[in-house]
Amino acid sequence: MSETLVVGAGWAGLAAAVGLVERGHRVTLLEAAAGPGGRARSLALRLDETTSIDVDNGQHLLIGAYRSTLALIGRVGVDPASVLTRSRLRLSGPGGFELRAAPLPAPLNLGIGLLRARGMPWGERIAMVRAMAGLALRGPAAVPEGMTVAQWLQASRQPASLAARIWVPLCIGALNTPPERACARAFAQVLCDALLSSADAADFLLPRTTLGDVLPQPAARWLAERGATLHWRCACRALERGSDGRWQASTDAGPVAADRVVLAVPPPQVRRLLAGAVPESRLAAFDAFEHEPIATVWLAWRERLALPEVVMLGERPAEHGYGQWLFGRTPPPHGPVGSVAGVVVSAAGRAADASGALAQGVARQVAEQLALPPPSHARAIVEKRATIRCSPERPRLDTDALADVAPGIALAGDWSWHRYPATIESAVRSGDAAARFAATGIVDRA
Ligand SMILES: Cc1cc2nc3c(=O)[nH]c(=O)nc-3n(C[C@H](O)[C@H](O)[C@H](O)COP(=O)(O)OP(=O)(O)OC[C@H]3O[C@@H](n4cnc5c(N)ncnc54)[C@H](O)[C@@H]3O)c2cc1C
Repeated sequence: MSETLVVGAGWAGLAAAVGLVERGHRVTLLEAAAGPGGRARSLALRLDETTSIDVDNGQHLLIGAYRSTLALIGRVGVDPASVLTRSRLRLSGPGGFELRAAPLPAPLNLGIGLLRARGMPWGERIAMVRAMAGLALRGPAAVPEGMTVAQWLQASRQPASLAARIWVPLCIGALNTPPERACARAFAQVLCDALLSSADAADFLLPRTTLGDVLPQPAARWLAERGATLHWRCACRALERGSDGRWQASTDAGPVAADRVVLAVPPPQVRRLLAGAVPESRLAAFDAFEHEPIATVWLAWRERLALPEVVMLGERPAEHGYGQWLFGRTPPPHGPVGSVAGVVVSAAGRAADASGALAQGVARQVAEQLALPPPSHARAIVEKRATIRCSPERPRLDTDALADVAPGIALAGDWSWHRYPATIESAVRSGDAAARFAATGIVDRA
């Protein structure tokens, strides 16, 4: 039986480990943190000395087009409908704007949705149909490589009001990169997959409880039940190739030998782990990624409120950075708080502000814009390197990028599935691809 080491138990590493166990590999999974999930994980957030609530490190939105993610959830024995609430695409925002997808096959769902939209001038609707028609006819290739989203919007004569209402929030929401720096081809790919492929692809999927229940915990249980060895709080420190061709890993739990290794860690860690084993010239690309932050401000109210499931918040220049999207959550009954909302402050907001000021600024913004009482608690979780910057210049490295100099090493991670922006779906697809490559030598190109 082939022995494979998987380093990193984010969604990419979990996908790789599951795929390898399914193919009959003996798997050891190493994770530096206390549990699985990586950048999409659950935690207990302390509100005050006596109160904490279960939330995620960042509010995440999944969509119906996340086919590989939904399949993986099913493969580890969980019915996606039991852990995710599904609702049809509905964009709403300031000034009474609302765009709902109609219950029809794509692209009619969007077309009819645009006809029925509220608070949207006809000029904007026609411009949006023009941009989407180009993508429907030619796919993402309608957008030249190397262009930014801002350039594409200009070239497609999209009015500034439409950009502010729809394109900019969608670009930041999907790519976590402001339009002036964001890759238009990757944006076009997301638009094609989400809005033009099938009726349910644009559906919003939100965790019923926390992200941990959606995949990380069930996947870890599934792996343990099938004999995989899982080590938490156990970092891999270095990798070397022995004279027998096997990989020797130095880890916090001692040395581990394996025939193959899936490195499902961010690019700087790949570089560090392989520093002694791969020529320096081949590792330079791993330093070339840039990153963007995301902050999530968790707001809690003692009372039960009718919070919207998802709403876009208007951005206004203000003293402390403002959130772009608010997601209402229903906390468990008889818990310490009656209502909870996660507000996303992305790369285009002021996610880098001091967390206390950010939390208070968002609390004021939400109370004012949604006419809600001030929350009893506001806490910000800031992820400074939430995702790579999805710019046209980002490095493109596939799962087999080091195969010629490091045979047996497969790469995985949201950064390595480069046709897509860094998302849960790209993490899972990269993990699926790494398992396939490690087991068969076949590479799925992003
Ligand atoms: C705040 C926030 C909001 C987001 N919102 C969305 C969203 O709405 N929708 C969406 O689709 N995506 C969203 N994302 C992106 C999504 O979370 C990531 O794309 C995805 O989680 C990346 O998974 P990964 O497995 O590739 O990487 P990671 O999650 O980074 O996993 C890497 C793992 O490797 C471990 N590790 C690193 N070095 C070592 C070592 N030497 N030894 C052992 N273990 C190691 C790390 O601890 C980590 O657990 C968001 C991200 C953030 C931070």
